[in-house]
Amino acid sequence: MGWKTLDDMDLNGKRVLVRVDINVPVVDGVVTDATRIERIVPTVRDILNAGGKPILLAHFGRPGGERRENLSLKQLIPTLETAFEADVLFAADCVGSEAELAAQALQSGQVLLLENTRFHAGETKNDADLAAGMARLGDVYCNDAFSAAHRAHSSTEAIARLLPAFAGRLMQAELEALEGALGAPKRPVTAVVGGAKVSTKLDLLGNLIEKVDYLVIGGGMANTFLVAKGIGVGKSLAEREMKDTASEIMKKADSTGCKIILPTDIVVAEKFEANAPSQVLPADQCPENSMILDAGPDSVAAISDIFSQSKTLIWNGPLGAFEMEPFDTATNAAAMKAAALTRSGQLISVAGGGDTVAALNASGAAHDFSYISTAGGAFLEWMEGKTLPGVAALEQ
Ligand code: AMP
Repeated sequence: MGWKTLDDMDLNGKRVLVRVDINVPVVDGVVTDATRIERIVPTVRDILNAGGKPILLAHFGRPGGERRENLSLKQLIPTLETAFEADVLFAADCVGSEAELAAQALQSGQVLLLENTRFHAGETKNDADLAAGMARLGDVYCNDAFSAAHRAHSSTEAIARLLPAFAGRLMQAELEALEGALGAPKRPVTAVVGGAKVSTKLDLLGNLIEKVDYLVIGGGMANTFLVAKGIGVGKSLAEREMKDTASEIMKKADSTGCKIILPTDIVVAEKFEANAPSQVLPADQCPENSMILDAGPDSVAAISDIFSQSKTLIWNGPLGAFEMEPFDTATNAAAMKAAALTRSGQLISVAGGGDTVAALNASGAAHDFSYISTAGGAFLEWMEGKTLPGVAALEQ
């Protein structure tokens, strides 16, 4: 891989500008989920231990290029200090004289947090002057915000071209996990793609059928594929107008040697609600007045069998309407199978993207996966085969 890591750098006495993603949920001034903060601790600690002085660059919410006090990063200081076990100083801007003085005065063992980069309209435009202003604050640049790497912003892209740049521990872990899953994976490789719609995951499906051996399609998007095969799906969520696209994807998969697995049995209910009376039927027998809300037990058995034959698994999207019991059954069972195979060393399992993390957490399987990406959009774009500007800039 063409980028440097913390181990390639001599950071002793250096001011290290670190782009992090600490865009955590806050309710009434209290951080309600500190996962993103916890994930950057290894990078910050390793920089401190190497004698470097971390200066954190981050965005928070969407202030739209204006200073908005409720989106000040200042409110995160107590949570950051606890997580880093270090003093966190603050500069009320991410560029300018106050930030420069604070960066110069920073002592080893301390961390400096700069104010929300998105208080500047130039940030999301990848403005070169803004990046130059930030670059003046540090000697080297570390990007540890994989989840922001799909955006070319001043603090993720332009700045990486102005200073010696390297990947932080979280960025490194994400890139290594994704490279292991899709770049040069151990075969056979299986991808699970579920979720609501085909239309939002077209690029993803297009890229995966060229790279994986088995593609398990689940959730609402499987319904669209059933429609494409001429199967009635009653009142199910399905994008009927996408049926030709689904047919093309199946045709292309035939030519690339990728085997597509659709549900062979389904769980149907008349209502889209938790514990709605449901029944298991063959996939081609959804009644007109019912909707498909999950894959059935035979489908789960087939998916589990494919997992057993695979060496690598990459997963995005639930197999059913997992927020409502019992329609989380297939997602949970398949996730538990993947977790067990991973635990016994037979499978490398990587999952990510929005609802997937919630679904795998709810199933209790998440902690046994080889890697769970906390990045939503960036994970998906990577799975789509797109170049991430923040990563490309590190590869200079
Ligand atoms: P996505 O954001 O595309 O990954 O989609 C996740 C959403 O798809 C979740 O809210 C699921 O409840 C929903 N979903 C999955 N399967 C179905 C289904 N068969 N019918 C309706 N919604 C579904």
